[in-house]
Amino acid sequence: MTTITIEEAKQLDQKDTLANYRNEFYIKEGQIYLDGNSLGLLSKRAEQALLGSLQDWKEHGIDGWTEGKQPWYTFSETLGEMTAPLLGAESDEVIVTGSTTINLHQLVATFYQPTGKRTKILADELAFPSDIYALQSQLKLKGYDPDEHLIRVQSRDGRTLEEDDIIAQMTDEIAMIVLPSVLYRSGQLLDLARLTEEAHKRGIVIGFDLAHSIGAIAHSFNEYEPDFAFWCNYKYLNSGPGGVGGLYVNKRHFGTVPGIAGWFSSNKQKQFDMEHTLTHADTAGAFQIGTPHVLSLAPLKGSLEMFQEVGIHSIREKSLQLTAFLIKLIEQELVDHGFTIANPRENHRRGGHVSLEHEDAASICKALKDKGVIPDYRSPNVIRLAPIALYSSYEEVWKSVQILKDIMDNGLYQQYENTRNIIA
Ligand SMILES: *Cc1c(COP(=O)(O)O)cnc(C)c1O
Repeated sequence: MTTITIEEAKQLDQKDTLANYRNEFYIKEGQIYLDGNSLGLLSKRAEQALLGSLQDWKEHGIDGWTEGKQPWYTFSETLGEMTAPLLGAESDEVIVTGSTTINLHQLVATFYQPTGKRTKILADELAFPSDIYALQSQLKLKGYDPDEHLIRVQSRDGRTLEEDDIIAQMTDEIAMIVLPSVLYRSGQLLDLARLTEEAHKRGIVIGFDLAHSIGAIAHSFNEYEPDFAFWCNYKYLNSGPGGVGGLYVNKRHFGTVPGIAGWFSSNKQKQFDMEHTLTHADTAGAFQIGTPHVLSLAPLKGSLEMFQEVGIHSIREKSLQLTAFLIKLIEQELVDHGFTIANPRENHRRGGHVSLEHEDAASICKALKDKGVIPDYRSPNVIRLAPIALYSSYEEVWKSVQILKDIMDNGLYQQYENTRNIIA
């Protein structure tokens, strides 16, 4: 095998048409940030957008809701419209509101309608815990025992799911399916089109958690039209810690009464009539609940402007090239060090991060951090590495692998306890 040199990495950077976007971000000197799948970095435009909303507040007080440069009253709708192209969705099918978990609660409260023997919810055993907790609590609220009514598709290898196994579980007892687009540990991308088609053939409502795909992968929801989706914006969309999330509801469900209603579910013209009978919006906006968290919405505007300029297809293309480059380097440099590459290799089956398994993953991550490479650790044995299309370079990917190789060759990780920190 011919060795990949740093010159090759530099050449890839020179040819990279997105390379300039790196200058739009605050990147710490001497650090290589590979954790944008957990918390994306701050961009200058996101910062400006936040300062803009503060300025509107300064200048307009209460009138900022309607008179500011970026009026707060319709901010969630504006951002939904800007997000829609990332999903291949219609503008009014998307709203920026809530959080991943809150939006899941809302969508299950709305679309989980058990009837006859169709009472069960299908998820998977590798799902992010918060999603499972939300499903369990929604089942309880409807009077069902989650142990019986939450079905979890099993993984054959502990990392990935087989679409065939999921489809085999789409029985006439299933009322709703909730699955991730990209699995948060292994980075597997599921075939959302096929799963949607198979669910709909059987009369089952299906929705997806896009936390690990939005901003990394182009979706074409207009083609296969899942019922709903939800996500956070602070990962690949760089909206900042605690940034407001988003949801998608397919237009055929417009007019459905929100399961969890509040005055921001209202038709915007009617909202201030202050009636006790809700006239809900006839768009995805109906699934908002209360006053938007304006200062946690604002950064997303600046960030989405860059996604608009670049287009999600170019971002996906570069992301695939970055992760392919990383995988190749890992195979070249780290063969005998006990790593397993846990993500699928095919482009159409992998998301935006590389998933490395190692029995000493926790201590290796600590060593990486001390050497200026910021990875992401998931207990007990997963290291996630996410080079980000808008701000990571091929040279950084190359250097990260060299640093990891040094850590392994010299056993540097052995100085650290192989246990997770509070946040990992
Ligand atoms: C990040 C993530 C969450 C986080 O949910 P919040 O409500 O934003 O805290 C939930 N589900 C998945 C799959 C995630 O990756």
